[in-house]
Amino acid sequence: MSNGEKTDMENLPEILTAFEQALELERELGTRTVDCDRALLLPVSIGRARPPDAPLRRVEDAPPYRDDGRARPPDAPSAPANDKPRATSLALPTAEELAACTKCPLATLGRQHVVPGQGNAASPDFMFIGEAPGADEDRQGLAFVGAAGQFLTKMIAAMGYTREQIFIANICKCRPPNNRTPSPQEMEACLPYLRRQIAVIRPKCIVLLGRTAMSGLFPGQRILRGMWYEYEGIPTIATFHPSYIIRFNPLTDAVSLRTAKLEVWNTLKLALAKLGKQPPKK
Ligand code: SF4
Repeated sequence: MSNGEKTDMENLPEILTAFEQALELERELGTRTVDCDRALLLPVSIGRARPPDAPLRRVEDAPPYRDDGRARPPDAPSAPANDKPRATSLALPTAEELAACTKCPLATLGRQHVVPGQGNAASPDFMFIGEAPGADEDRQGLAFVGAAGQFLTKMIAAMGYTREQIFIANICKCRPPNNRTPSPQEMEACLPYLRRQIAVIRPKCIVLLGRTAMSGLFPGQRILRGMWYEYEGIPTIATFHPSYIIRFNPLTDAVSLRTAKLEVWNTLKLALAKLGKQPPKK
């Protein structure tokens, strides 16, 4: 074409690669049959279908972390995970302690329950961290129990774990009104509670869910999805928040949905590999 744009035929290898990756992802998640509308595939341009804030990157190529959070050459040895002594003098923040907290405006903006987080607090393999409770979480006082939480449960199960085997928490322990993003000041006020949780729980690996969790745990730093960082000596990696995945319409956003799911799954496999593990065979 004279305008420099690729034709559909020239895009075909890219489309087929994305399709193959999507099928591989579905297979790894246990899917045995896939409905496919041919009309959806024909006009697809991978670049147009992807949301502008979700660039596709090969996370398998991501170099491991080093202490300052920057990329380390691929052949450099990884730091041993979770080799620091457990902080026995600290205690996990309780719901009662958090309910008395008034350190930020979220204390007075209609919270029903504080949400400390829950799960295995005895050095689990993984700690998942999101941004803040939503309506369901606020109602029940539990982290990730709404629709996004159900998708997180599927992610955890695909890794070979139950929710009880890992720990799930948020940067902020109180729900922001109308599910708005917590402000930097609110996250900064609440961060000491999460820092204490991490110090006591000593997870072997931290998985950050979404951009807000990234900026909440690493304020002022540029954190990239699928790259290794280190938080208090603990290997830390970031991926999409489950709510980002479930907002796609499977009928009209099928390619974007599968591309995002694939990136999440590749990041989770990286996290497993960091601990010398693999997803269970289906
Ligand atoms: S969000 Fe955190 S800092 Fe703010 S009131 Fe709740 S517990 Fe306290």
